[in-house]
Amino acid sequence: MSFIVAIDGPSGTGKGTITELIAKKYNFQYLDTGATYRCVTLKMIKENIQLNETEKIKEMLKNIKIDFEGEKVFLDGEEVTKKIREEDVTNMVSQVSHLQEVRTAMVELQRRMSEGKEVILDGRDIGTNVFPNAEVKIYLDASSEERAKRRFKQNQEKGIDIPFEEVKKNIEFRDQNDKNAKVGALKQAEDAVYIDTTNLSIKEVEKKVSDVIKKKQKLIKKIENGYVMTKDTKWKRFSRGFVKGFLGGLYTIVFRPKMNGLENLPKDEGYIICANHMNYLDAAGLILCNKFPIRFIAKADLYRFRILSYLGHLFDIIPVKRDKSDINSIKMCLKALKNKEVLGIFPEGTRKGLEKNAKVKNGAVFLAEKAKVKIIPVGISGSFKPFTKVTFNYGKPIDVQEFKKDGSEWLDKASNKVMNDIIMLTKKED
Ligand code: C5P
Repeated sequence: MSFIVAIDGPSGTGKGTITELIAKKYNFQYLDTGATYRCVTLKMIKENIQLNETEKIKEMLKNIKIDFEGEKVFLDGEEVTKKIREEDVTNMVSQVSHLQEVRTAMVELQRRMSEGKEVILDGRDIGTNVFPNAEVKIYLDASSEERAKRRFKQNQEKGIDIPFEEVKKNIEFRDQNDKNAKVGALKQAEDAVYIDTTNLSIKEVEKKVSDVIKKKQKLIKKIENGYVMTKDTKWKRFSRGFVKGFLGGLYTIVFRPKMNGLENLPKDEGYIICANHMNYLDAAGLILCNKFPIRFIAKADLYRFRILSYLGHLFDIIPVKRDKSDINSIKMCLKALKNKEVLGIFPEGTRKGLEKNAKVKNGAVFLAEKAKVKIIPVGISGSFKPFTKVTFNYGKPIDVQEFKKDGSEWLDKASNKVMNDIIMLTKKED
């Protein structure tokens, strides 16, 4: 399973220490991305390559070999764990790391090393550039004074004698370089959790990071659990009847729904209802105000929220992971249709998709063809203002099999036919 934790922030915020502790605690692989840039820098120093010698740098990057073995770092087969922390490398690494060629090569290497694994990476642009979809993003920060103090103490422990003022100047110089870089600049990702470590102990920071990870892991489990439909027990049927009766009654009073064309619905077979999607109340109307049950397909995130998750289970809503071909939910849909159930799908894909010029999704047609069922277009019209009428016009069944003779574009053509029928039905007078 892939699980990426991205720890970003300036030098001296304790990223390395925290990352190591978390890696041990959760048994994640640790990837110190700074070390990859340090290896490149060391190699440039060794081979006497200057920052402006682009061709030489490109050539050097083609053959470079960087490996990690626990805490040990290897450059072209030689252990360089200590060497890459020496002053000559430290003073130059920030400039090297922001060369376009170096950045591209190292980002690729970091992605390759993390592929499909549970990894924690620390760096500057992990959450923004290397893994913008990381499961957890943390941005560690601290005042430059505090960071310099920490680095100074670290140096003294290692017997490295650099005056405090110089350490601080070096940190501030690297900050400037990292933040203003043209490529791979240090920046907090919008969805990163910000932790100011200035007045926190390592233990306190570790706890905060750990809490974020635990919360995310719990959430992922919850979403995954959304895929396990709860059994249709007596109690579930009773609760569904109760909720449907209560909310359906309320809906009828507030929106005075009118259902036209119900005679078009096939009998004793599964089918798919496709409607226009203005807001959540249109789906609610279809579910609550029809005597027969409709199972909608909705984005999996719905199962993150307690009440929505409850309703999702109650009405057997099929979760689908966005932007991925979700085999699990396709299987669930096909099984339901074979079971002669009714599915509800919004071909606009999102609310007001047509207004947003979204391409009509062809999932409904795909499922209808596979399960050999018909699609019923439904046009919903009304303002959804309380005490004004909302109309649901059910159209004639569409047999998508007939479109298959239209060659490779048949899916799109059939989907457009469904959408056009829906639009016509929204304009139909009572
Ligand atoms: O984290 P560390 O201090 O070892 O990183 C060395 C340098 O490498 C940083 O000062 C920064 O300029 C650069 N770096 C980067 N992007 C990363 C990691 C490090 O630009 N992801």
